[in-house]
Amino acid sequence: MDVARQALDRMQQVLPQEGFIPLHEPTFGGAETELLIKCVESTFVSSVGAYVDEFERRLAEFTGAARAVAVVNGTAALQVALDVCGVERGDEVLMPALTFVATANAASYLGAVPHFVDSEEHTFGVDPVRLREHLVSAAEVRDGVCLNRSTGRPIRALVPVHVFGHPCDVEALAEVCDDYSITLVEDAAESLGSWRDGTHTGRFGRCSAVSFNGNKIITTGGGGAVLTNDEALADRIRHLTTTAKVPHKWEYRHDAAGYNFRMPNINAALGCAQMDQLEGFIAAKRTLAERYAQAFDGLDGVRFVTEPAGCRSNYWLNAVLLEGDAVATREAILETTNAAGYMTRPAWQLMHRLPMYEACPRMELPVAERLEAGVINLPSGAGL
Ligand SMILES: *Cc1c(COP(=O)(O)O)cnc(C)c1O
Repeated sequence: MDVARQALDRMQQVLPQEGFIPLHEPTFGGAETELLIKCVESTFVSSVGAYVDEFERRLAEFTGAARAVAVVNGTAALQVALDVCGVERGDEVLMPALTFVATANAASYLGAVPHFVDSEEHTFGVDPVRLREHLVSAAEVRDGVCLNRSTGRPIRALVPVHVFGHPCDVEALAEVCDDYSITLVEDAAESLGSWRDGTHTGRFGRCSAVSFNGNKIITTGGGGAVLTNDEALADRIRHLTTTAKVPHKWEYRHDAAGYNFRMPNINAALGCAQMDQLEGFIAAKRTLAERYAQAFDGLDGVRFVTEPAGCRSNYWLNAVLLEGDAVATREAILETTNAAGYMTRPAWQLMHRLPMYEACPRMELPVAERLEAGVINLPSGAGL
């Protein structure tokens, strides 16, 4: 039997065999309908309301962050996070080449330039050792500002990504940032419910961004949040995302070119109902990952991707990594599994291959290239 047939066979041991199985569909098994109706009846459906406050409070409680500020989506969360951390037009922002395009877009909206760095095989996140080597040769700190020697631009921030929900080596990355006067802003869009050494992802940086898009572990339809331990920073984010309106009984006063980024109450109502089920979703997804791990065990050239040592992952998106000769069978596996009704997908195209980011600075990316060529994502919804 060829590798593609065998991969399908292993998936059939885990997944239902009738109908189409999407990559990640939302699960609405709680009070979603009830809270949405209550929200409509209250007339507070827009950018203020009790559900927003409750959702933010529960996010902070769950993650252990001092504050959560709910916004319209994860991309907006990243953009405002970078903005309040001082990223400006003409700055560079370090980030993995292996990420969803939103990471690069968020920096780009601020007029900053993405600077792509390589990934690491065990976490799929930014490699701290190779990042440090890259900075030793490509950057220098002058007057407390890290400068790219060849472009002359400030390297202001690093945005590591917890890819597929697996925590990256963020503690080591934080040390590199300290040594180079670079601000750490985590892209935790995929990693709500993932911990490293007992600390929730998104709590290692100055702030972090979470997403509640329809395909994430919990959804608000569309939505995101910024997490931070800095109260003053959280107040600033809240202010900026509500058009920077200065409180006044009736006057329209704004003290900055702010954003209309606050999460509507109707989305937060959905979010509150989803928060009730988050622990259950994590448990279900971890069980599904265990079953995949068993099913793929011993299949030559196909390694099921597991959580890094010392971490507890939400297994947001399950993946296998093809190795050796099996890499050449990626298209065949995608063909065979999709034809059988199982939605499988390759990893994202690396950022420096996209037309709008191809001229951006970058280091050598051998690991990201290998992962790009070998990753296949598997159906991962909590309902499976
Ligand atoms: C989903 C995602 C985002 C963006 O979130 P949206 O809510 O879709 O804007 C950013 N980064 C990564 C890595 C993501 O997976």
